Amino acid sequence: ASKSTDKMVEAHELLKKFYHHLLVNTKEGQPALDYLLNRGFTKETIDAFEIGYSLDSWDFISKFLEKRGFDLSLMEEAGLLVKKNNSDNEFFDRFRNRIMFPIMDHHGNTIAFSGRVLGDEKPKYLNSPETKIFNKSKLLYNFHRARLHIRKNQQVVLFEGFADVISSTRAGVEQAIATMGTSLTEEQAKIIRRNVSEVIICYDSDSAGIEATMRASKILKAAGCNIKVAMVPDGMDPDDYIKKFGEEKFKHDVIGASVPIMTFKMTYYRRGKNLHNEGERLQYIDSVLTELSRIENAVEKEIYLKQLSSEFDLSMDVLKEQTFQKEKQIS
Ligand code: ATP
Ligand code: MN
Ligand code: MN
Ligand code: MN
Repeated sequence: ASKSTDKMVEAHELLKKFYHHLLVNTKEGQPALDYLLNRGFTKETIDAFEIGYSLDSWDFISKFLEKRGFDLSLMEEAGLLVKKNNSDNEFFDRFRNRIMFPIMDHHGNTIAFSGRVLGDEKPKYLNSPETKIFNKSKLLYNFHRARLHIRKNQQVVLFEGFADVISSTRAGVEQAIATMGTSLTEEQAKIIRRNVSEVIICYDSDSAGIEATMRASKILKAAGCNIKVAMVPDGMDPDDYIKKFGEEKFKHDVIGASVPIMTFKMTYYRRGKNLHNEGERLQYIDSVLTELSRIENAVEKEIYLKQLSSEFDLSMDVLKEQTFQKEKQIS
């Protein structure tokens, strides 16, 4: 690696430790620490994930870095500082008065931060920009910590948010990763597939999360993964669920109750449809048959066709013929 990227990582490592110190040992960090403890974070997870706090100051970090001999333009390039208007050599701190989640690359180097506000202000999370050391579309949050657990469990659980990963880890589901607040990319799916084949998608159960589950499953399938879905009820997210119902219930009733992607899709296509209405029923059956026509495993296909056949009192012959027609259209 070139010298400048080494310096960028060095600054991130240093700030990670400093932010963590501010959170756990100082008066200034106390409100942030209280906020986290109130949310159900524990001292152990705060330490394990090296969570920190950035001071409510415009220049504390600039001065901190300057004093230690870091080149401030390079620190701006690293995403830690922002250029002041109309100036090439004056900077202010990007992260102010936020809870700091350090982001490690897959080797464990600290390469970025995501900062959360303590209240309801916007933006809720502020991420480092793309830099020479931080490529959002290739990075999976917590992959470095989770890797051994992924191998051991032959499975990975994919979440939407950092808080979900952290709470899941606390619940003992440590094969936990998340994207960086963006949709799952092909590159990320390939990285996952190189390590494991079974992926449990456990996104938020609001409509954004449900749509994102459909999109992610498509990308994971193209990468060759075997996909299951774990759903939390009532629009909650996994972190909300763990706080409300506890760690054991999350492990058994959410992760333990995950279903094959096809079962999830059937529920998805049913949403908001009145299956007693003939038109809507036909639409539903058509959507499911389209999905089934893309399944290669004949046994799997047969199982779902049987379900449709018995639920809607249709012959297997008709359903198979229709699926076959759809297969021809695809190829
Ligand atoms: P929390 O539990 O702390 O309120 P969350 O993880 O439940 O946060 P969501 O609104 O579900 O937050 O968003 C999921 C993820 O999307 C977040 O973890 C974060 O990575 C990302 N995200 C959310 N809001 C923003 C934002 N304004 N800018 C960038 N990323 C964001
Ligand atoms: Mn969400
Ligand atoms: Mn959420
Ligand atoms: Mn949440």
